[in-house]
Amino acid sequence: MAPTHFTAIALAAAGFFSTGLLYADASADLKATVDRSMKAMGAENVKTLAISGQGWDGCVGQPYNPNTPWWRKFSNKDYVRSIDFEARGWRLQRIRGEGENPPRGGCGAGPIADQTQNLVVMAGATAPWNTQLEYIFLPEGFLRVALEKNASISPETIKGKKYTVISFMGDNKAPVNGYINEQGYVEKVETRIDNNVLGDTVWNAIYTDWKDFNGLKFPARIEQYQGPPKFFELAVTDVKVNVPVDLTPPAGRGGRGGPGGPGGRGGQPPSSLSEDLGDGFWLITGGYAAIVADFKDYIVVIEGPQNEMRAGQIIAEAKRLVPNKPIRYVVNTHAHFDHAGGLRTFVAEGATIITHQVNKGYYEKILKDPHTLVPDKLSQMNPQPRIKIETMTEKKVLTDGRHTIELYHVQGSTHNEGMIVAYLPKQKVLLEADEFNVGPANAPTPASVNPYHTNLLANIERLHLDVDRIIPVHLPGDGRKVTMAELYTAAGKSKP
Ligand SMILES: [Zn+2]
Repeated sequence: MAPTHFTAIALAAAGFFSTGLLYADASADLKATVDRSMKAMGAENVKTLAISGQGWDGCVGQPYNPNTPWWRKFSNKDYVRSIDFEARGWRLQRIRGEGENPPRGGCGAGPIADQTQNLVVMAGATAPWNTQLEYIFLPEGFLRVALEKNASISPETIKGKKYTVISFMGDNKAPVNGYINEQGYVEKVETRIDNNVLGDTVWNAIYTDWKDFNGLKFPARIEQYQGPPKFFELAVTDVKVNVPVDLTPPAGRGGRGGPGGPGGRGGQPPSSLSEDLGDGFWLITGGYAAIVADFKDYIVVIEGPQNEMRAGQIIAEAKRLVPNKPIRYVVNTHAHFDHAGGLRTFVAEGATIITHQVNKGYYEKILKDPHTLVPDKLSQMNPQPRIKIETMTEKKVLTDGRHTIELYHVQGSTHNEGMIVAYLPKQKVLLEADEFNVGPANAPTPASVNPYHTNLLANIERLHLDVDRIIPVHLPGDGRKVTMAELYTAAGKSKP
């Protein structure tokens, strides 16, 4: 055994010294590689860039149908992104409008009108990692951060093309890799991020169609992919170098910046409260609404929204209200991430998901996707619980003889193909998501009526539902009880 032991020590010692030498070389190589790339792109003295163009971006997890890419498309017109590399921030100006034809999907409850956006985003080392990535997903931004992060470099041949791959560890513990082609251009930057519905998600940016813009070599086409569908595309028409960039935040609200990462875990919602709806039913407030029903042998929860934190609050409140019964079912109104983001927590609880048939295969797949970057309760269970999904098409009734929940498909919804509303016949309560997101109380009929509202009303009339109270999953800010009279007014109809 002795010689082996000795050899191990000798190798370790040799390894130590050679690692030190390699490290010095690697660092010099990195600097040389970055310098060479910056020079090739004509970017050595670039302090600011103003990138103009047009394209589109996608709103995360809001498709009309879950089996299409998981984005709802927005057009980007008159797009100008002005980046200050030293301040590590940018101003984004664009006209963001309808990008779907026909207009369908979520991210706003109604057809999308053109919106002028003017916003400032700071992406320094203390910004959320996904915001920093929006800076890193610029060729020059990537190279600058690679230097700071002491990236490693390695040669790689992909489909016969030679690349120098620059790699560093992201703050979220996923490597960020940039592919420098033989000309010295950054061709692609790729990493993984966490998405609370999809888990570990690839996010990359691809730069093609390189052109000379005022002495700078810059891609005339930038595409970003997540998951992997494409969710951002920009046809670059002009790039100005070293023009002044004003990073003073615009007055008022500018909206969200950049193409945006996938839905986060959300901030800290207020703690759950509940309101008694009578006869074993409660409304859970304090975030996205849910309804808890005390069936004979188990609990039914309507809606598992947002994220693990919100779902945990709803579950805790359900168990407080109805002790010693399992949560057997969670009803899912639709597959948009803000309404499905808590389903994983309910699956971990042993609940069966009740959803529209259109979502079945999709949920069966994504509920098994790995969540290694940010493990949640479900991903850490061993063994993994069986994923139980019950589907419906037009109507499903849950009852124990005393308590009844009627579920109906919203026909003609342009928000989501598999939209479900829940009706409580005894309470005359209708829970709906996104089909009627109410504004301030006593609002008059708007000049242009939202077709979502007329469609919801048409469905209530078609189904002859006797509704005293509508509970929007997005509860009104003032906590008021929403009545049918409000829906009639919003839909521009008079109550019969
Ligand atoms: Zn929605």
